[in-house]
Amino acid sequence: MPADREISELARVIERARQAVVFTGGGISAESGIPDFRSPGGIWTRMAPIDFSDFLASEEARRETWRRRFEVDDMWCGANPNRGHRAVAELVRRGTVAAVVTQNIDGLHQASGVPAEQVIELHGNSTYAHCLDCRRRYEIAELRLAFERDGTAPVCGACGGWVKTATISFGQAMPVEAMRRAEIETLAADLFIVAGSSLVVYPAAGFPELAKHNGATLVIVNREPTGLDRVADLVLNRAIGETLGSAVGID
Ligand SMILES: [Zn+2]
Repeated sequence: MPADREISELARVIERARQAVVFTGGGISAESGIPDFRSPGGIWTRMAPIDFSDFLASEEARRETWRRRFEVDDMWCGANPNRGHRAVAELVRRGTVAAVVTQNIDGLHQASGVPAEQVIELHGNSTYAHCLDCRRRYEIAELRLAFERDGTAPVCGACGGWVKTATISFGQAMPVEAMRRAEIETLAADLFIVAGSSLVVYPAAGFPELAKHNGATLVIVNREPTGLDRVADLVLNRAIGETLGSAVGID
């Protein structure tokens, strides 16, 4: 299909939708300059991820986790939502999209104006931290000041628990509540749009399959082919921002 026909087909599908879900992965944030962790040259191909059990067991692992987190901060510094995020936010504003389910941990959907309660984060959020025991929230900038002063991994001032970014680490259980909400939204959707996920990481990648089996229209916008292209109703192997932006009619 020529590019402009693909865009108008996507626009038509979006117009017909009564209740849609957008599912996003690293591809949409890559267009904001945030490197995809799993891509060639991504962080996890250069250094082994620290398993959650090691974080719990070792002060050295905790220090290394935090050192890396602050390094990432320097790399992401100034990353802003792009046209793809803005298109998704516009669909939420119009009421077409009821929920954004994301594998990303950068908070850019919220930064683009999607209300936090409509963003379901399957891998958590790295823009703040919390105590693993009492869940008290901590801000990254404050933790960094203390880390650079003391060189020790942060400990909860209220209960003495370990403080960790609010992300789901390797070896850490998927967040039950987020998974449950994502399933409810998926089953309620008549349109499911994948934007910038190669759909390789399970269980998250099971949601588009579930939507399709439940009778929803499945659209995949991703630069590279995915494992679900053959079951999708519409596949656009193109840049996310340009594609969604054109289909939704925003810059
Ligand atoms: Zn605590």
